[in-house]
Amino acid sequence: MLTGKYKSLYNRLIGSISQNRLFDDPLYTLAYGTDASFYRLVPELVIRAKDEAEISLILRECSALNISVTFRAAGTSLSGQAVTDSVLVIAGSMWKKIRISEDGGIVRLQPGLTGGRINALLSPLGRKIGPDPASIDSAMIGGITANNASGMCCGTAQNSYQTVSGIRIVLADGTVLDTSDNSSKQDFSSSHPELLEELSNLAIRVKASRDLSERIARKYKIKNTTGYSLNALTDFSDPFDIIEHLMIGSEGTLGFISEITLKTVPEYKHRASSLMIFPDIEMACRAVSILKTTPVTAVEIIDRAGLRSVENEEGMPGFLKNLNPDQCALLVETVAAGKDELSSNADLVIRGVNKIYPEGEVKFTGIRSEYEKLWKIRKGLFPSIGAMRKTGTTVIIEDVAFPLPQLAEATLDLQKILSKNGYKEAVIFGHALEGNLHFVFTQDFNSREETERYGRLMRDIADLVVNKYDGSLKAEHGTGRNMAPFVELEWGKEAYGIMKEIKSIFDPKGILNPGVILNSETDIHLKNLKPMPASNAITDKCTECGFCEPSCVSADLTLTPRQRIAIHREITALSETGKEPHRAASLAKGFRYAGDYTCATDGLCAIVCPVKIDTGKLIKEIRNSLINKSETIPLILARNMNIVTSLARISLSAVSLFHKILGTRLMTSISSALRTISLQKIPMWNPYMPAGSKRIRSSTNPDLRSRLKVVYFPSCINRSMGVSVDHKNEIQVSEKMVRLLIKGGYEPVYPDNLDNLCCGMAFSSKGYVKAGLEKSRELESALQKASNYGEYPILCDMSPCLFTMKENIKSGLKLYEPVEFITQFILPRLKINPVSETVTVFPVCSMKKLGLDGMLADLARICAKNVIVADTNCCGFAGDRGFSFPELNNHGLRDLKAQLNSSVKNGYSTSRTCEIGLSLHTGISYKSIIYLVDQASR
Ligand SMILES: Cc1cc2nc3c(=O)[nH]c(=O)nc-3n(C[C@H](O)[C@H](O)[C@H](O)COP(=O)(O)OP(=O)(O)OC[C@H]3O[C@@H](n4cnc5c(N)ncnc54)[C@H](O)[C@@H]3O)c2cc1C
Ligand code: SF4
Ligand code: SF4
Repeated sequence: MLTGKYKSLYNRLIGSISQNRLFDDPLYTLAYGTDASFYRLVPELVIRAKDEAEISLILRECSALNISVTFRAAGTSLSGQAVTDSVLVIAGSMWKKIRISEDGGIVRLQPGLTGGRINALLSPLGRKIGPDPASIDSAMIGGITANNASGMCCGTAQNSYQTVSGIRIVLADGTVLDTSDNSSKQDFSSSHPELLEELSNLAIRVKASRDLSERIARKYKIKNTTGYSLNALTDFSDPFDIIEHLMIGSEGTLGFISEITLKTVPEYKHRASSLMIFPDIEMACRAVSILKTTPVTAVEIIDRAGLRSVENEEGMPGFLKNLNPDQCALLVETVAAGKDELSSNADLVIRGVNKIYPEGEVKFTGIRSEYEKLWKIRKGLFPSIGAMRKTGTTVIIEDVAFPLPQLAEATLDLQKILSKNGYKEAVIFGHALEGNLHFVFTQDFNSREETERYGRLMRDIADLVVNKYDGSLKAEHGTGRNMAPFVELEWGKEAYGIMKEIKSIFDPKGILNPGVILNSETDIHLKNLKPMPASNAITDKCTECGFCEPSCVSADLTLTPRQRIAIHREITALSETGKEPHRAASLAKGFRYAGDYTCATDGLCAIVCPVKIDTGKLIKEIRNSLINKSETIPLILARNMNIVTSLARISLSAVSLFHKILGTRLMTSISSALRTISLQKIPMWNPYMPAGSKRIRSSTNPDLRSRLKVVYFPSCINRSMGVSVDHKNEIQVSEKMVRLLIKGGYEPVYPDNLDNLCCGMAFSSKGYVKAGLEKSRELESALQKASNYGEYPILCDMSPCLFTMKENIKSGLKLYEPVEFITQFILPRLKINPVSETVTVFPVCSMKKLGLDGMLADLARICAKNVIVADTNCCGFAGDRGFSFPELNNHGLRDLKAQLNSSVKNGYSTSRTCEIGLSLHTGISYKSIIYLVDQASR
């Protein structure tokens, strides 16, 4: 409940910003307040802003009321710069406009685009953005530029500071300035002459101080994100250029970036990598200086502890396990425009590095699958350490840089300090080419002693990095709250004074992200530490990194996987301690809808999660914990599937008859009235609901006996749901499947007792574990018999059911999804005439999880001349959830229609229920891909 100035702010904003984008309740403020850092502050008010006008209004009002504001892009920051206990403004999913110049050399971007998305759009032009943080697929360009984030290849030459060519910002007083627009600059010169003059004078002063300007030049020879980008004052004189570059790395403390223009860099297609092993970390560091003089784009150092943390994972080279305790690796990459150049690069690197004797023969591989395996070692480091940590502890990644000539000595010193402070398990790795080392360790913040130990480590690190080596305390992750107490130590009094002046020029009232970058509290890095209580074994390893957020269908509708986990952790901790009972009850109540009802349990979050957490599994477990444990009714239904499917067929046919008699409009009105009266308990009807299917006769045709056999298991959905009105005069999917199998030379064989069989997903997805397992076991034994104990392949016509079967059936049966079976066995036996119309395909979640989404697109391209592959994650129909929570389906497919042009009339997929939602939200008739293959093979 808002009070005081926050209440006033809310009242001032509510007329202009839609209420459903303002959050002040315990659930959403905690959810949105969570980021990847180990700090926790819960905002009073969260605003999901939609455009620049809203930002300007928020800043004007906050300025008038003296309320501080923090901006948020993807919330993957690690140093505590994206959290606040005041107002949090989120500029993410609604800020995704992109303009690419014709040759791809320049991109103008809104802040909510992820780096990965931008690069995917630039890739066809052979370009990419310079900054390359490891978090690029989830981090957004607003956060990437505001942190001056970088990664393995970009170094100091291709980061946002070096590649920015224009910026549009909203200042603390709400004024908008676009540095790539002359009229905007003129207006700004008239409205803010003092600001421009003060900046120009500051630059003159800094340039006049030889010591300071030399220090600035020296410090930016290596990566540095500690404090403000002071090089803006030495590199430029024009105040607009200075503003443009000061904004980079300013972590939301100087203004809001509403658009940024970047020069892109070439994306070389030819790459080769080598994993070089050295006797110890010192030798490896010395090799880096040699490699710096050769044509390499990335040199990553990985110490023995790091290699050990990944050596048992799938696909890792076997020799890792046999390395001795001191050995250390360098992972080296070289790129080129052509093959010859690539191999000459590799030769030069090998010749260089051989001078200092790496262990074994140095070899490069240009084979994609091989070098990707090598890079998996590096990418898996942070997550695997996170996954190995003790429940309840936090994983911390620090990020320092040393001058390259002293890297070997500094690394040995760093090891000593970690060991001295009891962090013997710490792993050291990093972008050695830039002198940038990360060290990762697990930390318990549950006791004062442990927090003090961390404090001592930080002091020792600061002393080492600054006083001994004059390095950077934050090389790429941003200062945040974590290094704010050490900025003055690193830069010295004079430079720190200049930084304070910069802050007061841009933000005289200090409302923009106060406490971040500059903070007078010497122990702020040890305050507001995030609790990581144990809550459920499925999700306890979650580091709250946020990588899963872009893949979640309910993101922006309700919660993301990370937010579900954070809220669940809080509910569990509160209920265990008995603290704040009202808040606990409010969180639990809100979680029912936001966490449970609107989770599609599709598990797409697990694909992108570095520690493979499937938050859907947590939700299924919660569902299970809330139901009657005896599962009496679900078990009765499960044991009488023949009656259930018959009733479903009859009801669907009856509803379909009503539809024919009453027409679509009247049916829609009646259905929505019934749903309202029933308090949303009655599922929503829609015009794409199918009629009941015809019962399948499972007798075999004696004429086909000489053919190859395939066990065909039509899912219970396809045994209940027939064709819908838009399918015109088509036959139902099970008949189509049989027809195609026969065309392909197969004899379909049905399992015994087909009417009663089900994969169990219909039960398990609702939390009915017993009923789900019972059905799954029954199906397994029927399929064993029908397939002659694994002799014949088994085909199921719905990919979600096939996925469930693959998860549960472990007796070695050969299970196939329709696209896989058709591609492997039927297609080679058919003559295909691709249809000439443009069609679209939608890979459902289970296809993505099975890694078959590419195969669906390929199959469609064989069968149709023009194919549009939908670019969305889950459709949100989630089995039958789309009938009860149509808003999830609506949200999941909100961008789909815009991807399809008006000539598209037919869409194809592999899940009957998803197809209903797809048709509803696009107006295009969706069916199984089986229909397209049949049509093209006529
Ligand atoms: C596992 C993991 C690996 C990582 N690897 C790297 C790495 O290799 N290199 C690296 O540099 N970082 C890395 N990071 C840190 C982080 O992902 C990056 O710094 C990233 O660029 C942050 O982007 P974001 O969209 O999450 O920004 P957020 O965290 O949302 O915000 C970052 C900062 O920018 C400000 N901000 C956000 N939007 C705006 C805006 N529109 N205008 C003004 N200010 C704004 C925020 O207030 C905040 O201070 C990693 C993080 C994780 C969890
Ligand atoms: S579930 Fe995985 S991806 Fe999501 S926040 Fe947790 S660790 Fe990161
Ligand atoms: S299962 Fe799907 S909807 Fe649920 S949290 Fe994961 S991605 Fe989101």
